[in-house]
Amino acid sequence: MGFTIAIDGPAAAGKGTISKAVAAHFGFAHLDTGLLYRAVGAKVLNGAEPVAAARTLQAEDLNNASLRTADVAQAASRVAVIAEVREALVDFQRAFARRAGGAVLDGRDIGTVICPDATAKLFVTASAEVRAERRFLELEARAADVSREQVLADVKERDERDMNRSEAPLKPAADAIILDTSELTVDGAITQAIAEISRIVKP
Ligand code: C5P
Repeated sequence: MGFTIAIDGPAAAGKGTISKAVAAHFGFAHLDTGLLYRAVGAKVLNGAEPVAAARTLQAEDLNNASLRTADVAQAASRVAVIAEVREALVDFQRAFARRAGGAVLDGRDIGTVICPDATAKLFVTASAEVRAERRFLELEARAADVSREQVLADVKERDERDMNRSEAPLKPAADAIILDTSELTVDGAITQAIAEISRIVKP
């Protein structure tokens, strides 16, 4: 069986960037599991029922540029509290994690629920203010009409919902390595993540 790397953490902590870089470094495939919840959230915004949307999700539903909006992120975190939605998405994630060539999965519950036996687990975090500023700059670059205050309120609301739900709440696995990126540059965070994982994963 290939190596599985689980990377969890709150919104805009740097998980996505770090996961892509880690996957490229080790030559592993990468799955951004947030996209699954975003795709379900987007369908719900279009009138679908959440559980039916999760059960009928197709791989092509993940390749939709509109999944990156703030509205879809909020819809994703609302459907993510529903146990049947989470259940419907488990098999796809576990099958991906078992790829022979190795896999990096990033999300909220990869190290705790989806892949408790992952080879290496990283929990990437940063202060809410730093994360909101990063997300604001990202949205601004895409010409989205948002304010800093709005983005910070949004990040805090999602954190609150993700950490306090009864199903697979956002928290570090007991054996996760914690990486706080508040004071790190993007390159610094990537270098540190690869160094930590390299201690465990030796392809
Ligand atoms: O990571 P991203 O911001 O794209 O995730 C969107 C939402 O999907 C999160 O706020 C969270 O509620 C949910 N999610 C989850 N479990 C995952 C990945 C994402 O509950 N593994």
